[in-house]
Amino acid sequence: MAFSVPDLPYDFAALEPHIDARTMEIHHDKHHAAYVAKLNAAVAGTPLADVDINDLVADAGAVSNPAIRNNGGGHANHSLFWTVMSGAGGGEPSGDLAAAIDAAFGSFAGFQEKFSAAAANRFGSGWAWLSVDGGGLIVESTPNQDTPLMDGRTPILGIDVWEHAYYLNYQNRRPDYIAAFYNVIDWNSVAARFAAAR
Ligand code: MN
Repeated sequence: MAFSVPDLPYDFAALEPHIDARTMEIHHDKHHAAYVAKLNAAVAGTPLADVDINDLVADAGAVSNPAIRNNGGGHANHSLFWTVMSGAGGGEPSGDLAAAIDAAFGSFAGFQEKFSAAAANRFGSGWAWLSVDGGGLIVESTPNQDTPLMDGRTPILGIDVWEHAYYLNYQNRRPDYIAAFYNVIDWNSVAARFAAAR
């Protein structure tokens, strides 16, 4: 069975004014779709076509093929990205996730400082992540479409800092996009991923 692009769980305009509708439309319908099409071409006719995408990108043998690494990573990363945002997002986490963030970073503000720096300092294209590493949380960054799953960690929140994620609205002002991203984080979704990963 071929991989497919999941529907967005909201309208293209749902994240405005923080992320504009045109960016969301091109990002989902063109960029994500292209990763899926190229991934399907790379695995066509092989057993890898039937593997769960998160298992596929965690398979060191599979991702030794650059086409699978880049396009499988692109599919996995964007599939997570759409679901950790919401038009009703923002604010701060609560419960177990808040406690784990406090334990790892001292406070929510301490987390934001590290996450924003990881996103701003990623040179060129890539992602910043909040990942489950063992029992705790870490902030990390990956280049291109690499994912923490390739290194045995479980991402529960990610921000895409490829220029295609923000350039229409923010041009070269990546820090402004990063600051705006906090207004659309769906902490309920992140908390559910945290609970599942532990
Ligand atoms: Mn992207």
